[in-house]
Amino acid sequence: MGNVNGADAPQRGQLEALKALYALQEKDLEIDRLQKEAESLPEELLAVKAQVEALERELGDLLERQAELRKAYTRHSLDIEDLTAKEKQAEAEQRQAQNAREQTQYENRIQQIKDRIKELLELSTPIMEAMEEVEAQIAQVEEGLAGLRPRLEALLQENTLRVEALKVEIQRLQEEREAMAQGIPTPVLKEYEAIRRARKGTGIVRMLRQGQVFRCEGCNVVLPTHVAQKVVQGQLTRCPSCGRLLWKGEG
Ligand SMILES: [Zn+2]
Repeated sequence: MGNVNGADAPQRGQLEALKALYALQEKDLEIDRLQKEAESLPEELLAVKAQVEALERELGDLLERQAELRKAYTRHSLDIEDLTAKEKQAEAEQRQAQNAREQTQYENRIQQIKDRIKELLELSTPIMEAMEEVEAQIAQVEEGLAGLRPRLEALLQENTLRVEALKVEIQRLQEEREAMAQGIPTPVLKEYEAIRRARKGTGIVRMLRQGQVFRCEGCNVVLPTHVAQKVVQGQLTRCPSCGRLLWKGEG
């Protein structure tokens, strides 16, 4: 392995560029980390949000049920009003009856109406009971929501501030990153960025010495001598296994 540090003079400029690229990648990874942090919501916020959403769904269902019950109750009430009017009319007519047969006919008719009214009143009772129950449930859910909503608002506010602070930090890091990029040749930077996209974050890795062998920091493969040699010289070299750019490192 001694000939790795061979006769060829290392390409100083290129080595400096790779060193700068490695430092720039650290900045990129920090930016990635902060962006991920900005996108993820705190656990308490998620939990309270889920609770509020569940209660809102429950309230929606209860209001729908309440509307259905009110509709049924109104329908029965109108029917009862209508029948009561008919009963009054039959009673008035009964008073004008000419004979006993007519009297009896009106009596029967009045009795039929009374029975129907009684039936409707009996049907209305469970509806009223159900309405009361639904109202109590609505009040309970609304109370729950009233207790949770201010907490959710506060957590959302807190989160907005947290994300804003992270964005300021990301902006600052991005400016630093842009300044660092000035010192790196554009083709090298472009290659790095393409690899980084394909390799989920890392486009450049160090070559690690381990006894007599050199390994790729990215995929841990043992690098062939001729590859290691190029890396030491500062040639733009990619790991034959993972494809990342290799930098010889500080050692
Ligand atoms: Zn590799």
